[in-house]
Amino acid sequence: MPRMAHTIEIAKSGRATCRSCRKPVAKGELRFGEETVNQFAEDGATSFRWHHITCAAGTMPNELKGALAAYEGEVPEREALDRAIEEAIAKLPPPFPHADKAPTGRARCQGCGEAIAKGAVRVAVARDIDRGMTVTKGAGYLHPACAAAYVEEQGGTHEELTAGLRANTRDLSEAELDALFAEV
Ligand SMILES: [Zn+2]
Ligand SMILES: [Zn+2]
Repeated sequence: MPRMAHTIEIAKSGRATCRSCRKPVAKGELRFGEETVNQFAEDGATSFRWHHITCAAGTMPNELKGALAAYEGEVPEREALDRAIEEAIAKLPPPFPHADKAPTGRARCQGCGEAIAKGAVRVAVARDIDRGMTVTKGAGYLHPACAAAYVEEQGGTHEELTAGLRANTRDLSEAELDALFAEV
């Protein structure tokens, strides 16, 4: 999928409805445009779904942050907006790969096929899940010791795995991180 070019602009009319809260976006108000590919267009044409800036801070914080970085106009209450964005990003699930502790003992390791014990540190990677008609992205879990071989089999590298784990892992203690990197 091509990288979407989200945008921010001053609403030219009051006709758009915010896709986050379903209320109208007033004319003259700053609005966030979420660029989406028209599913039924063969040429990959795109259009915008509009959001109030403050709504987008909560529902699409990463996308809004990117658009704000490129926007050169005035943004009212910018500090409060940036704070709302950072708070919303902190609540999002971390990107893959990351490590966390298994909340149950039900997941099986994508590498060795054995169960991952409840409470054990595990590595989570993006995985294509085949649902028959469609393939969706989901999480695949691995024992730390099984992770590198699996990622390399999928075309990744050991360096990408460890760099990703360092950047994306939250909520593990220093000791748990040390144990993780000793095994990965
Ligand atoms: Zn809204
Ligand atoms: Zn394993």
